[in-house]
Amino acid sequence: MRAAPDTPAVRRLLRWFDREGPDLPWRRTRDRWAVLVSEVMLQATPVSRVLPYYAEWLTRWPRPRDLAAASVGEAVAAWQGLGYPRRARALHGAAGVITESGWPHPSRYGDLPGVGVYTADALRCFADGQPVLPEDVNVRRVLARRFPGGWPGAPRGKAWHAGQAMMDLGRDFCRARAPRCDDGCPVRTGCPAADAGVVREVTPRTRRQAPYEGSLRQRRGLLLRALADNGRVQVGRDRDAAYSLVADGLADRRGAMLVPAGSGR
Ligand code: SF4
Repeated sequence: MRAAPDTPAVRRLLRWFDREGPDLPWRRTRDRWAVLVSEVMLQATPVSRVLPYYAEWLTRWPRPRDLAAASVGEAVAAWQGLGYPRRARALHGAAGVITESGWPHPSRYGDLPGVGVYTADALRCFADGQPVLPEDVNVRRVLARRFPGGWPGAPRGKAWHAGQAMMDLGRDFCRARAPRCDDGCPVRTGCPAADAGVVREVTPRTRRQAPYEGSLRQRRGLLLRALADNGRVQVGRDRDAAYSLVADGLADRRGAMLVPAGSGR
């Protein structure tokens, strides 16, 4: 196994994080369920939008078994406004598995519904304190630019801090479009991409999102909102959106009506 050198850049990053890392609610816990909820919510949704949902969700469903006892429809309705409601369904599915069989071994987190490689690594790092670096799109960008030779590893016992710091660095400084190399980046000294003047060029590709306006995604969101407000909606109001919600298990069909998933079972 490769030794984990305590490089000056990683030490500077950790000092900066200790000083400036924002105090976020999911950073005050190592509870697996709370970490899972935060990580699923933070996928593709900004921190400021997640904050109220995270607090409300954990107040309502503080343990997996609390969510498992609710219907999928309740979970999807509580997700209104966060976007990508499949995530609510996946969390509900994960809660059911955990309630039934307990948490899987950390090496099998990926067996839980909706838990991919990134989220499994985030659970291992942020809940279990294992020395892994969860690589989301921000972290991958920092690695490509600042650590092109590979992640040198965090000092012993600092994996959690390093993971959180890399996320903050990627989001606030090492940004895709407007990197702030000379505007306070804590690891500017010795940065290979900045020194070579190729920061923008060293940006891992991400999939471009189709426009939201007028998309099926937007229409599904409107239908789910109407469902949350009224308890039922005519399928004919938007058939394509209604059928796709039913196909994804985010709503059920009762004759000509769309009703919340799992309602009345
Ligand atoms: S100096 Fe620029 S490219 Fe290097 S880590 Fe900082 S923001 Fe990223």
